[in-house]
Amino acid sequence: MENLCSRWSVTLIFFIILLTSIHLIYTQLFLHLTINFDNIKLKKSPQLPLRFNSDGTFKILQVADMHYGQGLITRCRDVSPSEFKYCSDLNTTRFVKRLIEIEKPDFLAFTGDNIFGSSTPDAAESLFKAFQPAIESGLPWAAVLGNHDQESTMNREELMTLISLMDYSVSQVNPFVQNLSGQRERALLTGIDGFGNYNLSVHGPYGSLFSNFSVLNLFFLDSGDRATVEGRRTYGWIRESQLNWLRGFSQADQDEHGECNHFGGSPLTRKTPPAPALGFFHIPIPEIRQLYYQKVIGQFQEAVACSSVHSGVLKSLVSMKNVKGVFIGHDHNNDFCGNLDGIWFCYGGNTGYHAYGKVGWVRRARVVLVELSEKEKSWTGVQKISTWKRLDDELSSKIDEQVLWDQNSEK
Ligand SMILES: [Zn+2]
Repeated sequence: MENLCSRWSVTLIFFIILLTSIHLIYTQLFLHLTINFDNIKLKKSPQLPLRFNSDGTFKILQVADMHYGQGLITRCRDVSPSEFKYCSDLNTTRFVKRLIEIEKPDFLAFTGDNIFGSSTPDAAESLFKAFQPAIESGLPWAAVLGNHDQESTMNREELMTLISLMDYSVSQVNPFVQNLSGQRERALLTGIDGFGNYNLSVHGPYGSLFSNFSVLNLFFLDSGDRATVEGRRTYGWIRESQLNWLRGFSQADQDEHGECNHFGGSPLTRKTPPAPALGFFHIPIPEIRQLYYQKVIGQFQEAVACSSVHSGVLKSLVSMKNVKGVFIGHDHNNDFCGNLDGIWFCYGGNTGYHAYGKVGWVRRARVVLVELSEKEKSWTGVQKISTWKRLDDELSSKIDEQVLWDQNSEK
C-alpha cells in the first residue's frame, strides 16, 4: 500500500512539473514568437480621394506655427501678464479644437513650425500632442515642416515619416513615382530635395460629372530650415528639383484634363479648364517683400524673413497657370493676403501660444473656402475661392473676408 502511495506521489509530481513546463514554454516563449493581434494598431485613414461635399463646397483650415512644446508645462509667449499665469500649450490645443467646432472644415493644413523643437526633449511626444485636435477630429489633415520642427530628437525625414503615419494624416514624405500609365507606384520619387513635397487631388462630389476627376489640387512643399550661402546664414528655400517635380506634375494633370472633353462618351462643348491649385509651405519667398508697397488685406507688421536665395518660385508658379493661392507661415505677426502676378500669397497668422507674437494681437487662423459652379443641375469646376481669418477672442470673430478668385471675373 505504501508502495502504491509513493508511486502516485511520483506520478503527481511528474504531472505538476510537466504542466508547469508547458505553461512556462507557452508564456515565455510561444507568446513572444507569435503575433498578438490585440496589440497591433493600424493607422486610421480618411476616405480618399478627398472630395467636395454634396453642396459643392470644400473648406480648408490653415493652422500656422503652433510651436508646440510639452503641453501644460510649456508657457505662452507674448501674452498679457494677466493671461500669462494660466496660459500654456493647452491654449493652442483648445483654440484649434474651437476652430474645428466653429468652422467645420473638410480638411486641415498645418504650415510648419508645428512643434518648437528646442522646447521639448521628445519630438514624437510633442508631435502627437500638437496634432491631437486633428487626430481626434477624424478629418483628413496634412502638414509640412517649418524651420523649428527638427530642433529636438528627430530629423526632418523622421518627422515627416511619423506625421505621414499618424491617424487621419494624408501627409506624404515625398511624391510617389508615376508609372507610364499614370498609376501611382509604391515607391517614393528620389532626387527631390527636402521632405514633405506632395500633391493631393480633391475630386467632385459623389454623383457629379466630376466625381472621378480632380477639380482642385493642393500641393505641399518643404521650404527647408536654415542654410549657409557664401558664408552667410540664411533661411532655407524651395529648390529647383522641387519646382521641377511641381511643374511636371502640373503639366501632366493639365494634359489629363484635356481628355475630360470626351468622358462618358459625350464630348463636352468646351475644353475643361485645368483644376485650380492651392499651395502650402512655411517660409515666404523673397518676392513677398514687394507687397509692402502694394495694397494688401490684413496686417503687414513684420519684415519678411525669407532666404537670401531667389530660386524662381514665383516664376514657376505663374508658369503653371492654375495656381490661385499660396498659404504660408513663419512671420507670426503678418496675416495679410497680397497678389503677385495673379497669385494670392496669404499668411496664416499666428496660431500657437508658445510662438512669439505681439501682446494684444490675438492668435488667429485662416480659413479657405472653395466653391464649385453648377451647370444643368450638376456640379462642375471650381467657381470661387474665398478666405477669412478666425480670431481666438471671446466672439471667435471672423475678419478680413475676401474673394481670392472667381471664375466669372476671369472671362
Ligand atoms: Zn514659427
